[in-house]
Amino acid sequence: ATPTALMVGTGRGAQLGILIKGPEVLETTRKVDTIVLDKTGTVTTGQMTLLAVHTAPDTDETDVLRLAGALEHASEHPIAQAVAAGASAKVGTLPTPEDFANIAGLGVQGVVDGHAVLVGREKLLAEWAIELPAELGRAKNEAEARGRTAIAVAWDGEARAVLEVADAVKETSPEAIRRLRALGLTPILLTGDNEAVAKSVAAEVGIDEVIAEVMPEDKVNVVKRLQGEGRSVAMVGDGVNDAAALAQADLGLAMGTGTDAAIEAGDLTLVRGDLRAAADAIRLSRKTLGTIR
Ligand code: ADP
Ligand code: MG
Repeated sequence: ATPTALMVGTGRGAQLGILIKGPEVLETTRKVDTIVLDKTGTVTTGQMTLLAVHTAPDTDETDVLRLAGALEHASEHPIAQAVAAGASAKVGTLPTPEDFANIAGLGVQGVVDGHAVLVGREKLLAEWAIELPAELGRAKNEAEARGRTAIAVAWDGEARAVLEVADAVKETSPEAIRRLRALGLTPILLTGDNEAVAKSVAAEVGIDEVIAEVMPEDKVNVVKRLQGEGRSVAMVGDGVNDAAALAQADLGLAMGTGTDAAIEAGDLTLVRGDLRAAADAIRLSRKTLGTIR
């Protein structure tokens, strides 16, 4: 938030943990009819856990955890932190990668113990012409059907494992969605994660519409497309990859628990990272306008 941030409805906004950038923001709350919600860290806690490791035949789980864990240790992505934590819990100290690169929306790649390692979406492996063998493909499909994110691990040109990672829906999210609907807003879940996981989270919180497998740089285009359909769009997000979409939205709501980039791009900050505050902010802004006029 800017230093000049005002409190919505003077005092009441502060109590509810809502910071607003300026009075002009109030007006847009009246028009918004659609609310796009980022999944990870917004609707879900973003606190991921490594739940299972499925290895290819002749692959040692310890090697998978050591190489994938080492690479993910160098990334700040919530999935990466889960993999690194899960790996070091099982195999102890992880080596330092000799080379590392973060590939936004896809995963990580680098060199560990002299091996060229990839960890991320199947699409990342495909870019290197690496295919998942049948048994790992099955493990991936089954994990996703359970609503979990499946992460592929490859090294030296071969797929070696599928990791199952998941985070939990925030307890307050279903109520938040109900309140947003009651304000006349249509919720849409937006994520870079796969369709099956997105649908499972959406069902859990009461969202019907899902836009999944969206690359970070394309989130802004989703907002533009909805606006092109004549909708007035609110967007809620927390990540660096949400910043452009938050700025493009008619009303950008940033999770206060999220990144600085998101907070700077938003019109409103939900200080406590509680999605119910999105509904509070819109209701309170509309009410404040009502009393002004
Ligand atoms: P979201 O939109 O849900 O916040 P991202 O755009 O950051 O997700 O990532 C999209 C997908 O890319 C993730 O669901 C995951 O499959 C993959 N991914 C991204 N970064 C990593 C990483 N460091 N390790 C493993 N997988 C990753
Ligand atoms: Mg996010």
